Amino acid sequence: MSDTIAAIATGRARTALGVLRLSGPEAVRVAEAAFRPAAGGRLTDRPPHVLILGDAADEKGNILDQVLCTYALAPRSFTGEDTAEFHCHGSPAALSELLRSLLRRGARLAGPGEFSRRAFLNGKLDLTEAEAIMDLIDSETPLAARNAALQLHGAVTEKTEQVYSLLLELLAHFQAVVDYPEEGVEPLEAGEIAEKLSGAGESLRRLSRSFERRSLLKEGVPCTILGKPNVGKSSLLNALLGAERAIVTEEAGTTRDTLEEKLTVRGILLRLTDTAGLRKTDSAAEAEGVRRAEAAAEGARLVLAVFDASRPLQPEDRRVMAAAAAAPLSLAVLNKADLPRCLDASALSGQFQALVSLSAKTGEGLEDLEKAIVRLLGAEDPLPAGEILTNERQYDAILRAQEAIDRAAAALREGFTPDAVLTDAEEALSALGELSGRTLREDIIEAVFSRFCVGK
Ligand code: GDP
Repeated sequence: MSDTIAAIATGRARTALGVLRLSGPEAVRVAEAAFRPAAGGRLTDRPPHVLILGDAADEKGNILDQVLCTYALAPRSFTGEDTAEFHCHGSPAALSELLRSLLRRGARLAGPGEFSRRAFLNGKLDLTEAEAIMDLIDSETPLAARNAALQLHGAVTEKTEQVYSLLLELLAHFQAVVDYPEEGVEPLEAGEIAEKLSGAGESLRRLSRSFERRSLLKEGVPCTILGKPNVGKSSLLNALLGAERAIVTEEAGTTRDTLEEKLTVRGILLRLTDTAGLRKTDSAAEAEGVRRAEAAAEGARLVLAVFDASRPLQPEDRRVMAAAAAAPLSLAVLNKADLPRCLDASALSGQFQALVSLSAKTGEGLEDLEKAIVRLLGAEDPLPAGEILTNERQYDAILRAQEAIDRAAAALREGFTPDAVLTDAEEALSALGELSGRTLREDIIEAVFSRFCVGK
């Protein structure tokens, strides 16, 4: 039996509200001891799953906060155990005080991820769903959050589960034939096995391919803005950041001198490297900025090379063009479109995958730039939410399953007997089993008995 854990679920920042949660056999007792319902009586005089107004108090009776408290009884809770929550005001001092008092009353401080781990151990979540919770919390863009939220609802599990069931059916059928010959189960045809394996392989391939697009959602696409001094790089950066600034509250000093800045363009996360150089205004620092940006261009997937379209191309612009060529994707921004055009764009057109004319000053053409970026990154179709694999562990397991299935299919083509082929299928099944964290043997046994009614 597990012990009772407690933790502040909302971090240690000053916020309007803060949540303290408890889980384990003593959760309700500990919460009840610390809670005084405003209407009198005790916590458990009220039904579970409702919020009750009252005070939280320490063991000496000192009131710590006015709170809302709720409890749930096993198995009808997130962790599958008895749980309780205090919804407090978000004062780190008051929350810590209440937590300490819960610990003195018999709870233990929870380790990282311990609530989700208990939910998993109690069959409330599978591993991919537990990971989706972390991904949701870590999401930096609305699209990443939506992807994670749908995975929490089993978007990945649903796909792998289909393959899992298919392989399970193959293995169960095969074992039934071998182990229970008296039942007269018809052996599978090689052609039928091949067809099932190829469907399973294709389904996993689609999923593993989506992992390549994870940077669009998760880590961000490494991107650099290049250009000689005064072409309008920082103006462009600010214009691109403009819309976001209105929503994202910045903490003072966090972006001014950072080397990296994150930006979403139509839901796609761009990780802009070396933006510090862009923000310095004196010319020595600017020159250093160009050198650093050139280095950054080498690691970038996308380079935005900025030119001043109101002036003819200059030797330094050529240096920018050469640096931009180092990146797999490069886009020329012809800035200052609000001024009369002097730059001959034909000199640039062969060098870049796209050319966009805009004015960072007026904002004209910014939309075209966003569209061009999304198009270059191959993200113009709406990304299928929930189906983008972003988790390394899941990717690794799916890849191993996919390889095992491919091996099985190849062995079948080469005329191997089904038992040799099914060893690979079993390996694929075991790799997929790692995704959800379930055990393999029990599943096979269960499927044999339920599907074929052996031993009835
Ligand atoms: P950086 O050195 O490349 O970062 O360039 P800045 O963004 O500091 O811009 C250099 C100068 O060009 C500033 O005076 C800006 O106001 C001006 N500038 C930037 N973008 C535009 C634009 O689109 N149109 C016009 N007319 N001026 C611009």
